Amino acid sequence: MSTEKINVAVVGASGRMGREVVKMVLEDETLRLVAAVAPSAGPVDAGIFAGRRETGVTVSATLEEALASAQADVLVDFTVPQAAYGNTKTSILSGVRPIIGTTGFTPEQIVELDELCKERGIGGLIAPNFSIGAILMMKFAAQASKYMPHVEIIEYHGDQKLDAPSGTSIKTAELISQARQELRQGNPKEEETIEGARGGYYNGFRIHSVRLPGVFAQQEVIFGGHGQTLKIRHDSYDRAGYMPGVNVAVKKVMTYSGLIYGFEHIMD
Ligand code: NAP
Repeated sequence: MSTEKINVAVVGASGRMGREVVKMVLEDETLRLVAAVAPSAGPVDAGIFAGRRETGVTVSATLEEALASAQADVLVDFTVPQAAYGNTKTSILSGVRPIIGTTGFTPEQIVELDELCKERGIGGLIAPNFSIGAILMMKFAAQASKYMPHVEIIEYHGDQKLDAPSGTSIKTAELISQARQELRQGNPKEEETIEGARGGYYNGFRIHSVRLPGVFAQQEVIFGGHGQTLKIRHDSYDRAGYMPGVNVAVKKVMTYSGLIYGFEHIMD
């Protein structure tokens, strides 16, 4: 394996996720931080901003400025949906492999960006979830649903989350639906005496969303069978939990061409 360091640019370097990415890069001696971007952070040292050592990398206000002054191999973006598509395109056109954690891409945009990556002969990844534990939870749930097709999902998030159910629970439900035989669960005569009591309906089964202060991100997938239940549960406690996945992605993206959607597709 090559001993060359991978040069990483971090976009959204002042954000909660971006600062974790900066720390992760600084803690891995096979990676080198070469650029950092945040529109309103000012010209501060990216390492100091993340609560670590001085790096000599000054946060740039724009991606163009940052890429012009650094030889980046990989760009990691945790910003806002309005900026992520443009950042990804700029990155690919500059020959820099994008690793994107920001959500909100349309299927058409993903196809276009995949073609651009292939034209340039570089890899890229858009991953709505970088948590290795959450991806495993989804895979295990899909596997279990073949043998125990009666299932419900309960997901827990902080009370300020806007969307319900969570993207992860919908993705889990999709994978379960692909893996199990079609089945409409429960009593066909069931009636709700309080609206919403049975949760959201998805392809024959239910998803329940709990929203409480103090909760970060958790999900339980519960299977019921004759005389038994099986629970598959994943708990996220903070943003650092996404970083092992981002670290794997930064290294893996150096080895293929084209844009991959979904972290699960780069897990061996
Ligand atoms: P945050 O703390 O609000 O940080 C947002 C960052 O984006 C800041 O650095 C901000 O810089 C920057 N930014 C804002 N507008 C920008 C623009 N037009 N161009 C470039 N940068 C811009 O948010 P966060 O909690 O870190 O989350 C960031 C994103 O990651 C969100 O979309 C979130 O949904 C996603 N996320 C993904 C995963 C995953 O596993 N894929 C996990 C967690 C979060 P300024 O402060 O200078 O404006």
